[in-house]
This record gives sequence, C-alpha cells and structure tokens, in this order.
Amino acid sequence: MSSLPQKADLWQSTLNWQPSDRQQAQFQTLYTEILSGNQRLNLTRITEPDEFWEKHLWDSLRGIFPGDQLGIGENQTGIQAIDIGTGGGFPGLPVAIAQPTWQLKLVDSTRKKIQFIQDSLLPLKLTNVRCLVDRAEALGQDPKHREQYDLALIRAVATASCCAEYVIPLLKVGGTAVLYRGQWTDDEQAELTEALEILGAELHHCDRFTTPLTDGQRTCLILRKTSPTPDDYPRAIGIPTQHPIV
Ligand code: SAH
Repeated sequence: MSSLPQKADLWQSTLNWQPSDRQQAQFQTLYTEILSGNQRLNLTRITEPDEFWEKHLWDSLRGIFPGDQLGIGENQTGIQAIDIGTGGGFPGLPVAIAQPTWQLKLVDSTRKKIQFIQDSLLPLKLTNVRCLVDRAEALGQDPKHREQYDLALIRAVATASCCAEYVIPLLKVGGTAVLYRGQWTDDEQAELTEALEILGAELHHCDRFTTPLTDGQRTCLILRKTSPTPDDYPRAIGIPTQHPIV
C-alpha cells in the first residue's frame, strides 16, 4: 500500500494548520480508497503520493484557508457547505476531514462517482457528509437547496462565470463561494464580475498563490452573495455552458 507523506511543517508554514493523527489517518484512507476506486472508475490522473498530497489534499484545503478572507468566521461551527461537481470528492472530502464541525453536501451529476463517495464514507469515518446525484442547474431551482448554504466550493467544472451561475443561487445572502482556478486572466475576471452583477454577488477577493511542491499557479476567487439571485438563474440544464451568462 502506498503511503502518503505527512508534511506537517509544510501544512503549518502554508496554511497555519496541521492534521491531527485522526485526520492524517483519514487522508491516508482517502488516498487508498481513491487508488482502488480508480481501477473501476476514472476518478483522477493524480496518483503518486506527493502529487496526491499537493494537487488533491493541499489544493482542496488551501481554498478554505485563505488567511482571514473567507469571512465565514474563524471558529464558526455548523457551517452548511456544498461542493458542486465533486467528482472523486474534491475539494469536498478533504474539507470534510479538516472541518469536522461543518456539514458538507457533495454533488455530482455522475451516479457512479457519487456511489464511490458514499461507499467511502464509512471507511473514512465521516459523519458530516451527504451525497447527492444531481445537476447544479436543478438544485439551484429546488427550494430545498436554493439559498440554503453558507459556503459553496467548485473546482474544475466549467468556466468561472458558469461556475458562478451554478453556485451563487445556492448561497444564502451573505454566503461565500470559492471558485478554484488555475491560471487567471483579466478577461476572465471582467467576465466574472459582469456575471456576478446579474447573479447578486461580488468578487470579494482574488487569491493568487503557487502550490508548495511544484510551484503551479493557482487562483481562488472568493465571492460574496449580496442580494437574492433573480428567479431566472440558474437557467435550464445545459444552458449555462451552451449560452454563457455574459
Ligand atoms: N471537482 C473535482 C472533479 C472535477 S471534474 C476535482 O476538482 O477533482 C468535473 C465534475 O463535474 C465531473 O465529475 C462532472 O460529472 C461534474 N459536473 C459537470 N457539470 C455538472 C453540473 N452541471 N452539475 C453537477 N455536476 C456537474
């Protein structure tokens, strides 16, 4: 069995946080589950221990530890968070491990990926995660989910403005979304800012950083919902990708 590096000093120096023994064991279990799930499902290309540590664990958690910019309160418990297009569980599963007092909803439109996550919850000893097979466009118009979340996370799903259309309707007014991006251009930022105006949100912080092992460029866009989203959004399934909002 491959074992994951611990890298306590790097966690500390980059995120001012370290996994407990229990959390380190959960990361290891997650790694083992992903490697075995990968034999049946196409979950990730990232399988080497250091790469998994950096691109899945560290990257997932960097998005929720941006200094004091997240603005959901340092020690706040009972946060309702949602990860849209979670795939093999990123960033949602590392976040659920690191924040055991938060409630996480992990959503993907692919049933077999969600089934994989569901089956992993017991070995991972996670009781703060619920899984759902659905489309972001449907959830955003469902009163059980619309305007119900304090925090929404979305990584590697669509263009930034499309991701915004998926997640902003799900947030309570005052809630926060984190869009995980790689490289980030001024054009993308202009387009996102226009989309947010329509959706009732604003760009609170553009967090640029590099990954600690391979120096890869990343940008997390931290969005704040400022007013209720107009009823027309999100638009019907498939429309946000086919007809960009701006
Ligand atoms: N967030 C993960 C997976 C990214 S792959 C990671 O960063 O590793 C993109 C995932 O988004 C796929 O699993 C796909 O099924 C899902 N997806 C794409 N569009 C979606 C939508 N509209 N609603 C729900 N899930 C969606």
